[in-house]
Amino acid sequence: MGGQIFIAHSRHDVRLRQWFDTVFAGSDMKAERLEFEVEAQSHPPIPVLVEKMRNSKAVFLLLGPQILDSRHTINWVAAETGLARGLGKCVWVFEDRAALQDFPVPFADVYVPIDYIDQNVAWVEMILKAYSAWGSGPREFKREPFEDFGWSFLQCSQPGCRASFYTPDMVTVQKCPICLVAQRWQ
Ligand SMILES: [Zn+2]
Repeated sequence: MGGQIFIAHSRHDVRLRQWFDTVFAGSDMKAERLEFEVEAQSHPPIPVLVEKMRNSKAVFLLLGPQILDSRHTINWVAAETGLARGLGKCVWVFEDRAALQDFPVPFADVYVPIDYIDQNVAWVEMILKAYSAWGSGPREFKREPFEDFGWSFLQCSQPGCRASFYTPDMVTVQKCPICLVAQRWQ
């Protein structure tokens, strides 16, 4: 079936970006993103972003060491994830586990710490395969693919947060991706 996933990221996080590009290359899913340097010169960025987001099955936010280097990137990532939630798209957060960032993601639905190991590749391949087979349509009528993966569903213990999210391996989760308070779930 195929389709596309919207990628929110800092283009300077080269390792994370290229790692995902490689996994996407082996699937029938397209990695869509807004390339401001190219597209914003000739088109107003917001209508382009809304259209790309509308046509995407989910959003992958890639959190790497460069995400905080630019206020421009921070604001756009916030806008992209907020828009995703507004359009009923699932927000996935993939974070380089060797470089955890001080970057809360209020709309995170799934949190996947990444170590660049084979198991991580297998997870993303499984996710892309599931989204490829997954139909579009209003979210309330569909179960998101991750709900059938048998992953952990964690709830933050922090009063004032208590957010919940899915994750493939709770042993690798060192913090709540929504409020950033360090926690251990095992
Ligand atoms: Zn929390």
